[in-house]
Amino acid sequence: MATMNEPYNRCLAPGDSCENKAIRAHSVQNASILERLQFNGHVIAPKLNLSFAEGPRVSFEKIGRNQATIFHGLCTDHDSQIFRPIEVNDLELSNPQHLFLLSYRAVLKEAHATIKSAHDTQTGYLAGIEAGLFPENACAPGKHAVEHMSLAYMTHEYKTRYDEVYVSQEWDLVKHYKRDLGVPPGVALNAMISMGRYSHETDSAAYATLNVFPVADTTILVVSFLNEHSRYFTRSIKKFLQSGPILRTLSYLILKKCSNFVLSPKLFNNFSDDQKKECLMHFERNIGDNTFEPKRPKLINIFECL
Ligand SMILES: [Zn+2]
Repeated sequence: MATMNEPYNRCLAPGDSCENKAIRAHSVQNASILERLQFNGHVIAPKLNLSFAEGPRVSFEKIGRNQATIFHGLCTDHDSQIFRPIEVNDLELSNPQHLFLLSYRAVLKEAHATIKSAHDTQTGYLAGIEAGLFPENACAPGKHAVEHMSLAYMTHEYKTRYDEVYVSQEWDLVKHYKRDLGVPPGVALNAMISMGRYSHETDSAAYATLNVFPVADTTILVVSFLNEHSRYFTRSIKKFLQSGPILRTLSYLILKKCSNFVLSPKLFNNFSDDQKKECLMHFERNIGDNTFEPKRPKLINIFECL
């Protein structure tokens, strides 16, 4: 638990050779996006609480905007240098560099999260051996740690492809699907998810990034993926999003597969108790390898008060 609560500092700038200390970088822009959603300096986000008495507990809680969506995967120089174009200018939805950077941030965050998770799992496994809890030969906790390392490696390989796009500035190698969700600002998301397909073109799993953020009086969704993975996107995520009302299908996907999202307190506090309960259950029971289907799918909506 102490290891899990400790940040893992590593600058993942292109080339992976930067040795500067990583800072607390926001994966969702603080000055523009969180500013739109916050109330009295707070937003609502999923939080994992660890205690020996009660075990792990997940809840949607009020947290300070300065703590929301942060990760320790870039040093101060690289964070400001890489993302300057979308920090000092208004985000332009028709600018391929701007959209690439939104997606790149999700890839960097996920690459960092999977490295930290592999590190934590391996640390726990070694501590278990030392304490005599696990056998020294092959065992489930050891296998679990190797699975996390394998996932961190694959995610890092994918991140390396994004590094190449960043360095060559060939922004068109990443494609974007944009959609106006038609609801007032209330939700922000920056996440990378697997599309559940293996790509022979890149010899890797096919991933996509999801960004949700307010623009003027509405909310925009941008899904991004490598050009080579376009058909996987069409057959998986796009098909799923179009299989029902967009706010419901997107909410289902976010709660099932993402954890890096925030809601405005004004929106969340007006959700009905049943809506809060069903959304939390769908989120909590789909963590890790678990799968759970909501009994009241109409209540799976994080964009509107029901
Ligand atoms: Zn750096």
